[in-house]
Amino acid sequence: MEEHYLDNAATTKPSESVIGIIEEVLRTGWGNPSSLHRKGQEAKAYLRTAARQISSILDCPEEAVFFTSCATESIGTVLKGVAQKNAREGRHILYAQGEHAATRENLKYLQEQGFELEALKLSPDGKILLSGLEEKIRPDTILVTCLHVNNETGVIQPVSQMGAIIKKRNPKCLFHVDATQSFAKYPIYPVSWQIDFLSASAHKINGPKGIGLLYKRRDQYLPPLVLGGGQMRKMRSGTENVPYIAGFGLAATEMWQIHEELMPRLMTLKQEAWQGIAQRFPDARVNGPAPEEGAAHILNVRIPLVRSEVVLHALEDEGIYISSGSACSSNKPGEKSPALSALGLSAAAMDESLRISFGRYTTKEDITALVRALSEKVPVLRRFRPR
Ligand code: PLP
Repeated sequence: MEEHYLDNAATTKPSESVIGIIEEVLRTGWGNPSSLHRKGQEAKAYLRTAARQISSILDCPEEAVFFTSCATESIGTVLKGVAQKNAREGRHILYAQGEHAATRENLKYLQEQGFELEALKLSPDGKILLSGLEEKIRPDTILVTCLHVNNETGVIQPVSQMGAIIKKRNPKCLFHVDATQSFAKYPIYPVSWQIDFLSASAHKINGPKGIGLLYKRRDQYLPPLVLGGGQMRKMRSGTENVPYIAGFGLAATEMWQIHEELMPRLMTLKQEAWQGIAQRFPDARVNGPAPEEGAAHILNVRIPLVRSEVVLHALEDEGIYISSGSACSSNKPGEKSPALSALGLSAAAMDESLRISFGRYTTKEDITALVRALSEKVPVLRRFRPR
């Protein structure tokens, strides 16, 4: 059966060259980068190359780049680390509703430890209001954390402007951005945008799963989560995952090289998908920003009178893969989508919402297959819906 993968916000297919470099490192560059002999130094060279590749995309010093096991680990390192080191300066933390579970769960933990959490004001389509940000920063605010691109709705937050506002109001307040859905697809420059910490994962850009990025401003100390042999300049102990780090560096370079051509192409595909759906289902609605305003690779739509999970499985039978919400958190059945809740959707409306997400290998044929399958399946499924 032909497959049409439209779940690229969950994960992406590794590119052939990424698979190639991972294999090369496993076969020949398998030394321990901490070893002083040639075999170790060969492995270390892969780490240096990857850090250089990523720092050139972020336009930051190489020494500000650290590798972790995933974005989740990077986010936890930042949130817990900032809270631990700055608790004496203040306990107030600002966040945007609709964050990924990696942020939400760490914030919940910090709240249990006595930190005060406050949500930033959002526009009706889920964008952080800059005036609201300015108002809420206090002398005891130690951290502002938000997504760059929301993994469920694709809303793009104004992170390029937030740093300056935060630092003007309180120079000691730190700023973390979860750039997991945007890194290498959209520009993000932590040094000039005054972002202190940034998190991302390789598997969203056709790299391997299980390898993450932590950008840390050079003059900002963070207590490490993982203690031991002091690898990664003492930020994260444990022998480095050299094959996947090399794969991450290459995946990021490849994505950055094509992003100026890729993202407008994905925007066209997204608009085509939405127009096809809207034509067949006049009652369908986009959740979050208008299709032309959100990120090019994420479309969240509600098709009323049919449950998204049922649609997802009906499409799966046709080899079409989409998501009924955030795949990152769909392993918690019954949990309401935080991004859609932040938009004020009812539980029933959330239940009818689908996330369709595009990537480097998405073609026009994938969109045609999706629209055709929805046109065929949804009217049938609607007839069998429980009343
Ligand atoms: N943040 C965002 C916005 C995401 O979409 C994801 C998705 O997986 C994560 C964090 C967590 O990434 P990982 O599972 O690679 O740690």
